[in-house]
Amino acid sequence: MAERYDIVVVGAGPGGSATAYYAARSGLKVLLLDRQEFPRDKPCGDGLMPHAASEVSLMGLGDWLEEPRHGKFTGFSIYTQNAFLRQSVPPTLHGTHGYVSRRQETDAKLLERATSAGAEFRSNTRATELLRSSAGSVTGVEAANGETLRFETPLVVAADGVGGFAREGMKAHQNAVARRQYFRGVNGPDKDYLHVFVTKDMNSSGAGYGWVFYLGDGYANVGAGVSTATLERSRRNLKGFYDRFLEEPELREWLENAEPEGPPKSWSLKMGMWGAKRYSQGLMMVGDAGSMVHPISGEGVGYAIESGRLAAAWAHEAHARGDFSATLLSGYERQLRRQRAKEHLSGYALVNLVPNLQLLEPLFKACEKDPAARKTLVEGFIGDTPIYSLLKHPRTLARALQGIISERQGSSARA
Ligand SMILES: Cc1cc2nc3c(=O)[nH]c(=O)nc-3n(C[C@H](O)[C@H](O)[C@H](O)COP(=O)(O)OP(=O)(O)OC[C@H]3O[C@@H](n4cnc5c(N)ncnc54)[C@H](O)[C@@H]3O)c2cc1C
Repeated sequence: MAERYDIVVVGAGPGGSATAYYAARSGLKVLLLDRQEFPRDKPCGDGLMPHAASEVSLMGLGDWLEEPRHGKFTGFSIYTQNAFLRQSVPPTLHGTHGYVSRRQETDAKLLERATSAGAEFRSNTRATELLRSSAGSVTGVEAANGETLRFETPLVVAADGVGGFAREGMKAHQNAVARRQYFRGVNGPDKDYLHVFVTKDMNSSGAGYGWVFYLGDGYANVGAGVSTATLERSRRNLKGFYDRFLEEPELREWLENAEPEGPPKSWSLKMGMWGAKRYSQGLMMVGDAGSMVHPISGEGVGYAIESGRLAAAWAHEAHARGDFSATLLSGYERQLRRQRAKEHLSGYALVNLVPNLQLLEPLFKACEKDPAARKTLVEGFIGDTPIYSLLKHPRTLARALQGIISERQGSSARA
């Protein structure tokens, strides 16, 4: 006989573990499935922005974050073609610092919190099908772990990242790719800052950036990510962009005596909330499965946890009312939009309307000279404000616009 649960969560990354943790704490009988054995690695920059660190702390892991093997950052150094922006973390309700923690450990810790709250976890168990009655209501999940398993439930949360478990036209196409590698002994400045490189190579035909994020244990996470549009326009691959990034003057110097810990690993992302469907009858999508990755920074761990926390609240509400309809679950979507749509829509518009980020060089240069605008730019990057908040700095924007116009006039004269 199939086992029965109040909710089945597919995928035990940050989104799935957060959903399972909050749902179990609210008294629901929770099953959490993952196709992998934990602890498992997930290619990531490992950066936890202040809002993400707040989510991790809310799950009872504040002391764990403070352990010295994790990096703790208090600011950003942004290197562009012509500008250098150095900015401490703008203070918000979430504090003035963030962390860098290997996903292998972060995800295992979040999962541990879910199971200690009462969620049942099955590893090496791949969800293969969402089961619905002939009337269309979700009735359960079919899964495989060497044999075929069936779990009965009226409510499923898909937290399977870029996996495609919940077909039903829910998934938006991936629009970016990124690659990262660990190095020991990276010898750069300001190890308590996140270093972000908006290079000419990655931005002359699209959008992308490279990074160096220091852990606290002598290692650094080094990586690069570009939009799939960049790959198409340049006819290059991600490996080519990453290898070229390691040749940037700063990287050559910093990595001179550094040892790679293993080969680089790549993964894909869907940046920006738009294009995805996040609920239907008996189903909610969280984290990357619900396109919750920030459209500019590519940051998704905090949003995965946040969406899992909200999905769990709606799961509790659905059970309390005995109502698993799309109408009820649309409340989850509305709440997410209220929380995040401004940043996502404006960031998505910026990245999609500007044909290449190199055009924004005059903006970076203007922000370099204006501390208030620089702070807003960084707040936009870390998801604390919509990028259109730069409109609060009209003089700097006017200077940037002048720069863009003279740059364009210069290039047409040269042509
Ligand atoms: C190179 C790179 C760098 C990044 N850097 C950062 C960063 O610095 N900071 C940040 O916040 N974000 C970063 N991101 C984004 C971040 O990694 C994701 O947003 C985050 O992993 C989303 O978590 P999730 O729980 O939604 O999905 P995931 O972490 O992908 O977890 C999904 C889980 O589902 C499981 N699964 C999949 N299919 C099935 C199935 N059918 N049945 C059962 N289990 C299944 C998988 O095994 C996996 O464990 C980066 C992404 C990349 C690619």
